[in-house]
Amino acid sequence: MIPEEYTVPFATDGLVYHQDTTPCTKEQWILIDGPAVVTDKDGTLLSDPSACRPILTTDPDRFMIGSDSRGAWYAVPISASLLLPDRYARTNLRAMYGVIPDDLLGIASRAVALSAFYRTHRFCGICGAETNRKEDEIATVCPACSHVFYPVINPVVIVCIRRDDEILLARSPRFVPAVYGIIAGFVEAGETLEQAVVREVAEEVGIAIDTIRYRCSQPWPFPHSLMIGFSASYAGRTIRIDPTEIEQAGWYSYDSLPSLPAAGSITRILIDQVVQEISRDTKS
Ligand SMILES: [Zn+2]
Repeated sequence: MIPEEYTVPFATDGLVYHQDTTPCTKEQWILIDGPAVVTDKDGTLLSDPSACRPILTTDPDRFMIGSDSRGAWYAVPISASLLLPDRYARTNLRAMYGVIPDDLLGIASRAVALSAFYRTHRFCGICGAETNRKEDEIATVCPACSHVFYPVINPVVIVCIRRDDEILLARSPRFVPAVYGIIAGFVEAGETLEQAVVREVAEEVGIAIDTIRYRCSQPWPFPHSLMIGFSASYAGRTIRIDPTEIEQAGWYSYDSLPSLPAAGSITRILIDQVVQEISRDTKS
């Protein structure tokens, strides 16, 4: 479904998880502090263990996130108080888009997401005992009650809505000033993805839609969402915004759109796809 010209930043492509590859393969490390990873000041990912070791004060508690032809990749969580030498910096994943190759960005994203998972699953939610990392898969296991916890992935639907040669754009109060996006929201328990799209659109801007079509998806490791992208057609009612979620929404002609999020997000991929389609339809 994804046209070939689109890559999907933050996706981990080609990394496999085999526990038995660990002892004999070359290691690659990614130093993690919350949503940030340690890079050179120029943004280059620091992944050579021999360069990482002098920075760390103790033997690191690392965990494998998968391997590829470059070796076994390990996430190495570091303390927020760890001082980095001048030539290194903590760099947020988002700032690394376009700076490092997409495949490395995908690996760094997975390291950040899984480190958030292990950090928040140190204790069993059922009996309170301290959990262990499971050896044979990416999960934690409780030694007292045997419950197994898997990484949480939150599905979020996002939709680009078309009305003739216009697109519905909206601004959340949380957005960067003057930048517009499209409607998105978390899928609720018991919903299909399509039902979630219809509900979010009705709640946030009050309009009806139809012709809901899946387009593409994007892992969004801030901290653990999966964005599921759709397009849809306008099917009635006037815009009525929910002021707690949206501060402004309207229909914009495809050839005079306001400021949009930078490349790298599924918002931009979906808008660009729909704009291309309107452009094609308008010319034919
Ligand atoms: Zn337990």
